[in-house]
Amino acid sequence: MRFVSTRKRARPASFSEAILGGLAPDGGLYVPEAFPDLRPESFDPGRSFAELAAGFLEPFLQRDPLAPQLASICERAFDFPLVLRELEDATSVLELFHGPTAAFKDFGARFLAECFEQIFGEAGDQSSEATILVATSGDTGAAVASAFHGRRGVRVAILFPMDGVSPRQAKHLTCWGGNVASFAVRGSFDDCQRVVKEAFQDPDWRRSTRLTSANSINIGRLLPQAAYHAVTSLWYRHRHGVEPGIIVPSGNMGNAVGSFWAKRLGFPIRQIALACNDNRVVPDWFDSGEWEPRPPVQTLANAMDVGNPSNMERLFELYPDHARIHADASALAVDDSTIREVIAAGPERWGREWCPHTATAVYFREQLTSDHWVIVATAHPAKFDSIVEPLIGRPVEIPESLAQLLSRPTNVSEIEPELDDLRRSMEAALD
Ligand SMILES: *Cc1c(COP(=O)(O)O)cnc(C)c1O
Repeated sequence: MRFVSTRKRARPASFSEAILGGLAPDGGLYVPEAFPDLRPESFDPGRSFAELAAGFLEPFLQRDPLAPQLASICERAFDFPLVLRELEDATSVLELFHGPTAAFKDFGARFLAECFEQIFGEAGDQSSEATILVATSGDTGAAVASAFHGRRGVRVAILFPMDGVSPRQAKHLTCWGGNVASFAVRGSFDDCQRVVKEAFQDPDWRRSTRLTSANSINIGRLLPQAAYHAVTSLWYRHRHGVEPGIIVPSGNMGNAVGSFWAKRLGFPIRQIALACNDNRVVPDWFDSGEWEPRPPVQTLANAMDVGNPSNMERLFELYPDHARIHADASALAVDDSTIREVIAAGPERWGREWCPHTATAVYFREQLTSDHWVIVATAHPAKFDSIVEPLIGRPVEIPESLAQLLSRPTNVSEIEPELDDLRRSMEAALD
C-alpha cells in the first residue's frame, strides 16, 4: 500500500515514509492510494481490539518494513481497554478514555510511538536519534509525551503557552523528564506554533536533530482511529443486529475522518453525525456547501476550538461532490450554555458525568429521532474537573491513570517564544 498527498504534487510514500514525513512535501495530507477490500465479515467480533486492529491495519502496511512487527506493535500500543457500553435503549457510549492520559488521542499517539521506536530504537546510538517537536494547548501534548516517554531513539520537546492551560492540564504536560522535556512558553499558543514552525524551517537544525512531528494529521495517528470506529460498528451489530450511527465530537476532524474511512472500507456504520462546538465551520459547510474557514473561538470544549480543521482536505477527497455527504452524515453546532446543561443534567438523567467535548455528542443524540446510535466519549470528565465539578456540585472521581500522572514530579523549563531560547533550553533539558 502506498499513500498519496491530497494535493497530488508529492510522490507516493510507503507507510513508514508517510509517518516520518507527517505532512506530505507538497503541504498536503497523506491518504491511502486506494481503499483495500477488508472483508468486514471476516473479522471475528469476539477478538480483542488489539487483534482486530492488527487485522484492520494489515493491508495499509503491506510490504512496509514495519509489517512483520504489526501484531506486536498493536498489542503493546493498545494495552488498555476499548469499551462500548450501553447507555439506554438503542444508544451506546464508546469510551475512548481508558488509556494513560484519558483521552482518545492515546490510541494514535501510542501506535505512532511504537512505530517510531521500531524505526529509530534499533540503531541504539545517539546519532540516529530523532527529535519530536509538539506545540500543544492540551490533550495532544499529554498523549504524545506519555506515549514516547522512556522510549529508545526518540526525544520529545513539548511547547505550551504558560498561561493557556488549566493547572491539571499543565501537570499532564510537565510530569515527564528523561527523553521528554516540557517548555512553558511566555506567550500564546500561536507563539508556540510559530517557534515550532521556525525550527522546521531551519535546515541545519532540522537535519542535525532529525526533527520530526507527531501531530494529529499524521497518518500513523489516523489509521488506529479508523480501526476503533470499524471495530465499534462490528461489536454493535454483533450485539444488536443492526448497523449503528456514530456521533463524533469533532474539532480538527481527525477522529471523524477515522469514522468516514471505516465506513468507506465497508464496515457497518449507518450514519456519521459530527458534533461541533461554537466553532461552526463544519456545520455551516453542511448547510451551505461553502467552505469558509475562520479564526477559532474559545469554548468549554477547548480541544475542539478549531476554525480551519486541517483534516477537511481528507474529507473533501472522499466527497468531491459536496451534496453526496448528506446521504452519509450530518453536523450540528452546540453552544456553551447547552454544553453546561448537558453536563449538569448528567448524573440524574443518565447516571453519568460527561466531559465538555462528549457533551456535544450527547446533545446531538437527543436531537436525533432515529434509533441505534453510538456516542463517542473522547475524554474522561476528570480531565476537565474545573468545568464539570461546579456544574454537578461534587468532585469527579479520578481514574487510576490520571492519578498516576498527578503524583509524578513536575519537570518544566520556562522559555521566551524564540527559537534560540528553545535550542539552548533543549540542550540543557534533554538526556
Ligand atoms: C482532540 C479532541 C477532540 C477533537 O478531535 P479531532 O480529531 O480534532 O476532531 C475532541 N475531544 C477531545 C477530548 C479531544 O482531546
